[in-house]
Parts: sequence; C-alpha cells; structure tokens
Amino acid sequence: MTFLRKRNCPECGAEMQPQLINILYKREKCETQIDVIGIPANVCTKCFYRIIPSKIAKYIDSIIDPIFDAESMQQDKVLPAPHVGIQFPPVERELYC
Ligand SMILES: [Zn+2]
Repeated sequence: MTFLRKRNCPECGAEMQPQLINILYKREKCETQIDVIGIPANVCTKCFYRIIPSKIAKYIDSIIDPIFDAESMQQDKVLPAPHVGIQFPPVERELYC
C-alpha cells in the first residue's frame, strides 16, 4: 500500500488533502477511452491541483498501456473503439493519508 504524504500545493501553497479521484485516460490517435475510478491522490483544497504518487501512476500505466496498445494495433475495425472502465475498490482513508 502506498502512503500519501501530507504536503502543500506546489502551485498555490495551500493545504492538500488525500482523496480518491477519477481520471479519464485518452491517447492521441486512439479513440479508446479508459475511465479509472478510485485513484488515491493529493488534491489542493484551494486550486484543486492534483498529485498522484508516482508508484500509483506507474501501476495504472502498466494496466492501461496494454489496452491502448491492443486497440491501436487492430487492423480491422470490428466495433467502434470501446470505452473501458477500471474501478479500484475504496480504500480506508487512514491507509493512504
Ligand atoms: Zn493549490
């Protein structure tokens, strides 16, 4: 389990709070969209700047990269590009803050 450190916003200096966020991932020249739900991140309480710990960002990349790669390698467009949803079960707040 990765822990988020309490820190201040690099953009505006306000306090940041650990939160679970959702991000829609897209790639250039690829119509596939991947909706990732429940990502632990530090979010600024003032300007909403978000920081995802690099360990978590890398892990998510390792899941979604093969999906984008498989989709962009399709020769025949059998179906329209899919919208993929990935959902992490909620984690106890104490575990990541
Ligand atoms: Zn801020």
